[in-house]
Amino acid sequence: MLKRGGVVAFPTETVYGLGADATNAEAVLRVYEMKGRPRFNPLIAHVANRESAESHGDLHDAARKLADAFWPGPLTLVLAKRPTSKICDLVSAGLDTIALRVPANEIARDLLQAAGCPIAAPSANKASHVSPTTAAHVAEDLGDGPGIILDGGDASLGLESTVVDLSGSVPLLLRPGGIPRKDIEDLLGATLADAQPGDRPTSPGQLASHYAPRARLRLDAMKVEPDEALLAFGGDPPPTNGPMVNLSAKGNLREAATRLFAALRELDTSGYKAIAVMPIPGEGLGEAINDRLRRAAAPRGH
Ligand code: AMP
Ligand code: MG
Repeated sequence: MLKRGGVVAFPTETVYGLGADATNAEAVLRVYEMKGRPRFNPLIAHVANRESAESHGDLHDAARKLADAFWPGPLTLVLAKRPTSKICDLVSAGLDTIALRVPANEIARDLLQAAGCPIAAPSANKASHVSPTTAAHVAEDLGDGPGIILDGGDASLGLESTVVDLSGSVPLLLRPGGIPRKDIEDLLGATLADAQPGDRPTSPGQLASHYAPRARLRLDAMKVEPDEALLAFGGDPPPTNGPMVNLSAKGNLREAATRLFAALRELDTSGYKAIAVMPIPGEGLGEAINDRLRRAAAPRGH
């Protein structure tokens, strides 16, 4: 299907992806259309290994260090795109950079091997909706849009990749994600600057309203109002008669990450118009979890 220019949804360890042959502009266009994604928001190109990544992007020393440490895995590197790369301009939305990742999920890796091409894939949900962590989530959001949905069960990480821009003079954290900031900074021996709006072309992951359920989110809640569902964290949630999902009764951030998006979807279908969210620590994976919650809580721009 990929070779014919079709669109295939597939599991990765982060979230499910909506994939097309990254060298086929018509196929990539179908991905943008299926998601309703603005054309200026570039896609991640998934590749089978570092050698393949090197043929599309300029992996200088720092990039190579990070690739060696975290690939395959939930790290996306934004690099200067090689003029010889066959990845079409639509993937990088006309920028002279390319976002590359080697996924760890076995099905994703087999798919990349079998297809023999880089696969451009954003998350397999409608633009600005909650990201999918199961094949059923993809079907709920996109119906029979994708030609095939490969079912790999629950995404093992459940949070998107960390996006680091190494194309400029200072490394930028474009999006916190599955690899904690500190792990990357320790390896680089440098701090990651936070992307300022206007610094670089916008990442959709940076849009204020994103990952959004229909219900309103109230963050850092210590108690639950009668009309609120509860998204809890830790062993001591406040009392409530309404629906509750605990991201991790043990207070484990990794467990919370795997459950976050499914929990938002579940509470969204409870019929409650608001969700109280307990405070979640900001260290490690907590930075990405809090980032997603803040965006899910942001006023809707459109
Ligand atoms: P997703 O749609 O969840 O796969 O997210 C992909 C992320 O990578 C988004 O935040 C994109 O904006 C970002 N991205 C992809 N390509 C580039 C690029 N060339 N420059 C900057 N950010 C990029
Ligand atoms: Mg997305």
